[in-house]
Amino acid sequence: MPYDYDDQNIFAKILRGEIPSAPVFESEHAIAFPDISPQKKCHILVIPKGPYRCFDHFVQAASDAEQLDFFRTVGAVAKQLGLSEAHGGNGYRLITNSGRDSLQDVPHFHVHLLGGEPVGPLTTS
Ligand code: AMP
Repeated sequence: MPYDYDDQNIFAKILRGEIPSAPVFESEHAIAFPDISPQKKCHILVIPKGPYRCFDHFVQAASDAEQLDFFRTVGAVAKQLGLSEAHGGNGYRLITNSGRDSLQDVPHFHVHLLGGEPVGPLTTS
């Protein structure tokens, strides 16, 4: 079943400038900004600028250039925020929720980048 995309989701509105955000990083195909309800000292969301509903949709439909740029942006944000072990940090966790079982709330693909302190066990149930 092909994916649809609801362009009224919160992140689409952020991309259009209809809802404020404070990007910490921007590339040609992606932006990164703080999560409004941080779960750790550092909680950044990285999203593609293109209209992709979830990870599954992104890897099926986004161009190679968009996918490469997205994952390079995630790495660049981790480096910029001092989390990358390769640059003296203590590491971080990436999470992406995709679809119903994951309880994905915002239907625009995003990666949560969590760190700045120990992030705990991978799941709680
Ligand atoms: P998920 O459950 O993976 O879809 O996560 C959605 C995330 O978006 C949650 O962690 C929310 O706190 C975050 N969020 C919702 N609205 C905003 C907003 N306006 N700016 C930044 N983060 C937001």
